Amino acid sequence: MNSRLEKLISWLKDQQIDAAFISSPDNVFYLTRFRCEPHERLLGLVVFQDNEPLLICPGMEVDDAKSSGWDKEILGYSDSDNPWNLAEERIKARIPKVQSWAVEKDHLNVSRYEELANRFEYTHFVNADHILNELRLVKDEQEVAAIKKACELVDFAVEVGANELAEGKTELDIIAAIEYEIKKKSAGMSFDPLVLAGANAASPHGIPGLTKIERGQLVLMDLGVIYNGYCSDITRTLAFGEISNRQKEIYDTVLKAEEAAVKLTKPGIRAKELDQTARNIIRDAGFGEYFTHRLGHGLGISVHEFPSLTETNEMKLETGMVFTIEPGIYIPGVAGVRIEDDVLVTENGVEVLTQYPKTLQIIE
Ligand code: MN
Ligand code: MN
Repeated sequence: MNSRLEKLISWLKDQQIDAAFISSPDNVFYLTRFRCEPHERLLGLVVFQDNEPLLICPGMEVDDAKSSGWDKEILGYSDSDNPWNLAEERIKARIPKVQSWAVEKDHLNVSRYEELANRFEYTHFVNADHILNELRLVKDEQEVAAIKKACELVDFAVEVGANELAEGKTELDIIAAIEYEIKKKSAGMSFDPLVLAGANAASPHGIPGLTKIERGQLVLMDLGVIYNGYCSDITRTLAFGEISNRQKEIYDTVLKAEEAAVKLTKPGIRAKELDQTARNIIRDAGFGEYFTHRLGHGLGISVHEFPSLTETNEMKLETGMVFTIEPGIYIPGVAGVRIEDDVLVTENGVEVLTQYPKTLQIIE
């Protein structure tokens, strides 16, 4: 049994929960190393206190599951099967009654919840989100290596985007070039890339379109690459041609806030201290109302995971955590600037994994 599963099993024992039904593809990947995108089909990892775990997946994926290293039982089903009938049989062969289920309450949908509730003699459902989020908080060596590679690739993606900037090109032209170059490196994007020009960047999660890039604009690029199942997430805001003093002031403020938070990062410090440090710098510069989101988020198998770097999160940082630091200033109708790095908490402090320059890059 791998050590990740062992930790989940010892939690089941401590909490006296009969079984866990894990269904989010990210958590299934974390526990089994089998990456599956099941769409509407059923994917589930059933974990027991003392019985062999059972992986349930579409029949056509069984070979993939085996070749990713899963050597325990697999229940593959066809599109004409009712997978729940088959699963019920295999689960009841292990333990006749499941009186408590651990499930991902933030993920499990209602129809699957009802299957679990109605087919097994249950007493209650316990939320497994917390324990799984906790298990994934501190990355092991292999995970860090994959994230580092994803960061290397995303630095390259920004470089491609920067080289592509030219008058007359649209936001989507730049994105197409980035995606093509990343594909050629046998990798993929971890989320739909954002390239937002001028006032479009004032919406932190704006939708790129056919807006043409113009000289004198700040262009925000928020990009992520996935490598071996692990994600990177970077934002750089580049100047296309000369920009105004006001734009520079916004940029410098974000940069100062970002660098201060990075510098403060080390084991033992609380998540909220990083957010507050960056937020105070932006507030003191008079832009407080325009920094409309948290400072950052954990990064790994999911683009967003624990820890969450908010103004109020008391969580103490530990060696091996990986997260983003990404303050921003968004002035509606004017401009948006965000600078985002991925960082690893180390014994001595911090290692910044994304390397693309942060000093204002003026692209001519
Ligand atoms: Mn991002
Ligand atoms: Mn991010």
